Amino acid sequence: MTRIKWLGLSLFLTGFALWIFTLTLSQFQLTDSILDASVKPEHRDILRQRTAFMANKVYTNNWSFISDFRGAVNAYNEEVRAQKAWDKVIYDDYVFDITKNASLGVLHDGKVWLWFWLSLGLATLGGLVYALTGLKRLPGIDNNRQYRHPATDRGWIGISVGVFLIGFYIALYFYPEYLTNWVLLVDPISRALNAGAASRWFLYGFLYTLVILVMGVRMLVNYRHSRYQQLRTVSVMFFQVSFAFLIPEIMQRLNQPYQDLKNIWPLDYTFFFDYRINEKLQAGSLGIFMLVWGIVLALVAVPVLTYFLGKRWYCSWVCGCGGLAETLGDPYRHLSDKSLKAWKAERVIVHSVLVFAVGMTLLVLYTYFTGQPAILGFLDSYSVRSAYGFYIGSLFAGVVGTGFYPLMGNRVWCRFGCPLAAYLGLVQRFKSRFRITTNGGQCISCGNCSAYCEMGIDVRAYAQRGQDIVRSSCVGCGICSAVCPRGVLNLELGPVSTRKI
Ligand code: SF4
Ligand code: SF4
Repeated sequence: MTRIKWLGLSLFLTGFALWIFTLTLSQFQLTDSILDASVKPEHRDILRQRTAFMANKVYTNNWSFISDFRGAVNAYNEEVRAQKAWDKVIYDDYVFDITKNASLGVLHDGKVWLWFWLSLGLATLGGLVYALTGLKRLPGIDNNRQYRHPATDRGWIGISVGVFLIGFYIALYFYPEYLTNWVLLVDPISRALNAGAASRWFLYGFLYTLVILVMGVRMLVNYRHSRYQQLRTVSVMFFQVSFAFLIPEIMQRLNQPYQDLKNIWPLDYTFFFDYRINEKLQAGSLGIFMLVWGIVLALVAVPVLTYFLGKRWYCSWVCGCGGLAETLGDPYRHLSDKSLKAWKAERVIVHSVLVFAVGMTLLVLYTYFTGQPAILGFLDSYSVRSAYGFYIGSLFAGVVGTGFYPLMGNRVWCRFGCPLAAYLGLVQRFKSRFRITTNGGQCISCGNCSAYCEMGIDVRAYAQRGQDIVRSSCVGCGICSAVCPRGVLNLELGPVSTRKI
């Protein structure tokens, strides 16, 4: 490893360690004003009574603070439940807001920027320096030791990264109160963009965008010989920064509904939920535009653009999940399961999720238009949508979809779980001008293409038969073509009838 690479790695690791350390920086104190600011008026008196033992006590860590607060609320809820006083039960989860607002210390003392630069700033700088050292290597990813490195071949570093990512997603979705210091770290950025305090979702959006940018630079360096890869990487970076991050935050500042304008139903599975439809209808003409835009994207743009360009227009050029997979996930693309068993499982699972998403949406719309919460007396739309949100939206898309990058490859979610990928894939398979053509006579069977296909497609088998690759799962990332030493594979467009399948 060169000195400059060591420097990049050291800066990154120091910044990362300090970022973890910031979780320990605050102390916590519950006061009346914090309760008033964080709790609905109808719950203030009872919570003030029940948490009186915490008043003015300074906690040196959030674990004991959260445990005391949650214990007090749970004890109260158990009492009123035992009395069957259901209207008195506190269903609201106040613990995140209370913990964040009760935090004292350096992250509140004007030193937040110092810690921001020492942690995330340093890690970003280190990541960029490390990525830029790739300029000293030949472009391309073949023969770069990806298969033998403990970070990228399910070795101890890769497993540790996977454990960290899985832990992060579990905390973010289910225990965000333990991450309040990280949320405080990005509070000033949130206030500058949307004029409000940062939420856990702002933290997530910020980190997501930052990672795509840093790892996007790595992609640009590593694939500097391929114009297709350069354009596609710039495209995912652009859509993430503008459409997914900046525009929705600025819309909030303007008191408009929060909407990622490139997130398409059924990937955006809450698009037809009552609160989101109402929010848009109440927002006037811009809200109506967003509603119509989302419907047109799902029902017109998806089939039309996929007919002309293949599903790559979305999965590899626009989508945020695809953007993360193609940047952060690039070092893990060879880990995708290439077996026939995986392909069979993929077809069943991804199309089942699509059916689940469509069924849930129809149920939600039925409830919206009729006011009936259930259909056939037992299919309750609220239970179905919360089941979808928990199993698909949180566990599958987040915890498994990204947490398992270093263990199962970078497109686990896109391949096995994304309902939009399934929808795009059906159009691509049966009605699209897109195909990857193969010049079988030139193939030397090196297997690079199959090895680096993130969707687990056995590209070499097609190349050897001289057959066009027309697979519903192919996201058109073009890496198979970029790593082929013989120029066998070409991403092409042409009349549907001329595909050699
Ligand atoms: S077949 Fe090629 S273009 Fe398609 S997903 Fe695999 S590597 Fe990407
Ligand atoms: S198509 Fe290219 S990368 Fe794939 S096996 Fe043949 S020569 Fe190797």
